[in-house]
Amino acid sequence: MPQDQVEVTGMVLFSIPIGDYDKRISILTKEMGLVQAFVRGAKRPNSRFSAACDPMCFGSFLIYPGRSAWNLASVNIQNYFEKVKGDLEAVYYASYFLELAAYFARENLDASDQLNLLYISLSALTDGRFPGRLVRVVYELKTFVINGIYPDVFSCASCGCREDLAYLSPERGTIRCRDCGPEGGEVELLPSALYAMQYIIQKPVGKLYTFTVKEEVLENLEQVMKRLVGRYCDRPLKTASFLDGLP
Ligand SMILES: [Zn+2]
Repeated sequence: MPQDQVEVTGMVLFSIPIGDYDKRISILTKEMGLVQAFVRGAKRPNSRFSAACDPMCFGSFLIYPGRSAWNLASVNIQNYFEKVKGDLEAVYYASYFLELAAYFARENLDASDQLNLLYISLSALTDGRFPGRLVRVVYELKTFVINGIYPDVFSCASCGCREDLAYLSPERGTIRCRDCGPEGGEVELLPSALYAMQYIIQKPVGKLYTFTVKEEVLENLEQVMKRLVGRYCDRPLKTASFLDGLP
């Protein structure tokens, strides 16, 4: 390997065409966070890079520095997520997950947790045990946790107690207990929804897809996450509108 080449492990978040034949891919990498890499000839027929430029491709990428971005020297894709790509509903969820990861991705920052979360969430989409709606709320909340922005759902903001917590304010990022009561504008959380949120916040990424919830709990979590996404993302995500059209 020439001296200035670097090997990174990552997933393609998106690619954009450059001119007639080339592409620039954005890769979320474990070692270096967001990496933009120029892929010469990616749009030419029979290019050895054409499939590797597709969103969701996961593997190792050998890159070397160019003038304004990295250049791709070679790639070894380990997972194309073909199963996701063969299921339109899963594709909509996956596209949204990639866009949310891109929203928070920064250059030169370790992104191993986010990459791991993305990988296991894409796998969970076609696992058959978890509805896409559940994978979405788990993915959203854990993404916020990884990025250090999430509500305190462990003790009452008014009296400090840890029991009977019920009123969550996504905007204030706080929760209040039943004795203290709501201040106004809170979402009333079902006990199972509160427990699910605490579980997602505390557990390591690898332990997230181990539970399912009842429909009413899922609706409750969706209600909270919709407002948290509105609070933490200062612009609407394009791919979220596809999901709103799903039954
Ligand atoms: Zn209280």
